[in-house]
Amino acid sequence: MTTTEPNACPTCGTPDVTFVLFGVCSTCDFWQWQFNLPGGLIINGEHYRIGEEPTADALNNNPSQFGSYGRRYVIRFLDGREVVTHNLWHQGAIPDALRRPDSAAFVWHCIVCGAELAATDTRRRCATDQASVDAAWGEW
Ligand SMILES: [Zn+2]
Ligand SMILES: [Zn+2]
Repeated sequence: MTTTEPNACPTCGTPDVTFVLFGVCSTCDFWQWQFNLPGGLIINGEHYRIGEEPTADALNNNPSQFGSYGRRYVIRFLDGREVVTHNLWHQGAIPDALRRPDSAAFVWHCIVCGAELAATDTRRRCATDQASVDAAWGEW
């Protein structure tokens, strides 16, 4: 990578970095640490960790103490295994220069019929249920 930024990290390209070791900036150091620590997930180039699943009581009483405020996520690993979590922690987007292949994906379901949505589908309903919502609005 070439850069004109004098204080940029030659490895990850982060401008104005703090070097924690010779040639290793704090951004590189953080991501090396994340990559070396077992249990990390990469979804759409962002890094996540699944924490211990809270009990229903703990989740109801204090959702904000859990990752992503206790929101429910379904995650599918490359081998097809699926995990439901209410404790998903997000470490952030991996810089392009340090990018690695995804190791998992989010699985989304239609809130009306429960059908699985396409990975690229950001709506909360399947095409059929979205069409009936659109039709209902059209009657106004
Ligand atoms: Zn760096
Ligand atoms: Zn549906």
